[in-house]
Amino acid sequence: MNAASPLDCFSQGYGDARAAFLHAAADNGAEITSYRHPLRGPRGEPLFLDVAQLGAPDARSVLFLASGTHGVEGFCGSGIETFLLRAGIARCLPDGIALVFVHAVNPWGFAWGRRVNEDNVDINRNFLDHRAPYPENADYDRLYDLLNPAQLDDAGAVELQKAVGALERAHGAEAVYRSLSGGQYRHPRGVQYGGREPVWSNRTLRGVWARYAENAEAAAYIDLHSGLGPRGVGLLLQTAAAGSDAARLAQAWWPDSIRFEPAHGSDAALASGLIGPAFVAGCPDAAAVGIVLEFGTIDMNQVVLALRADNWLHHYGVRDSDQGRAIAQRVQDAFFIQEDTWKEQVCERAREVVQRATAGIAAVELNPGRLGIKGG
Ligand SMILES: [Zn+2]
Repeated sequence: MNAASPLDCFSQGYGDARAAFLHAAADNGAEITSYRHPLRGPRGEPLFLDVAQLGAPDARSVLFLASGTHGVEGFCGSGIETFLLRAGIARCLPDGIALVFVHAVNPWGFAWGRRVNEDNVDINRNFLDHRAPYPENADYDRLYDLLNPAQLDDAGAVELQKAVGALERAHGAEAVYRSLSGGQYRHPRGVQYGGREPVWSNRTLRGVWARYAENAEAAAYIDLHSGLGPRGVGLLLQTAAAGSDAARLAQAWWPDSIRFEPAHGSDAALASGLIGPAFVAGCPDAAAVGIVLEFGTIDMNQVVLALRADNWLHHYGVRDSDQGRAIAQRVQDAFFIQEDTWKEQVCERAREVVQRATAGIAAVELNPGRLGIKGG
């Protein structure tokens, strides 16, 4: 690969990020398909989920790399995609592999600087069976008023942190994670809402999977996120059941990946409605892996408070005001670090993860029904 600089690859807004991505994809000879979102951005600009396919169109091994599932996290993910394209990752692809970039899974959230979508829905909590009873999140219900206040003040933030501290002492860090990040299906105006039906990004993404992975015998989906974990570190988080093919492949490709305990029955799941398991289920005839690559930014308490302020702004505040602009900046700063070292760290880590994925997917024996890893 050549020496593209990570420092030039990150943009200041959705429109610039999209233009840089499309330009880099076209330079690499990608086949580009754009899916128009029904709404517009804050300056009236049209919004799209864009797909750029590199490598053999009829490849039996397909690797997806996606950004902006949590809209505002697209500042990080889009920059990584542009970096990898400019660095010439397409020229390093093993034979028989297609690399499919998905840019701005949630373009509305990216353009408006929100983590959620136009329906206040967290896309990565929306991928579950909406006809079945929804998972409960009783600790979230108890924290609802503190997480979603009608008036934003510092005293409320202190109260929230006290309540979270008490929950951790009583039930541990997993209970805290589940209450603050696990998703909830009762409160449409609250943070972490998973929706009542498959939202636009969900439906569109499933169409993308069907189109590009229809004939795949091996398929992997890497979803780029930011805002969780140590600053600048890229954690690989997967949720496939222990002993499943997906878990086995993830472990072989990325020995440092971390497995979040998935459902022992949906009520026990740490997080509900995740994309990774839906991707694997959507590729029943393929050896499939879905994984999150999560880059750390700032302290999780600060991320939670930024999202609390964002949700208040959306429902009660005025976006076009000093306070509104300050909150918007605070949200952006929670998910993207304007620092050269951080940008270099995330780009190099993403490159390493994608290279291991392409090598791993190239080593899957393409014998339907008899999944194996060559030489292993
Ligand atoms: Zn995220």
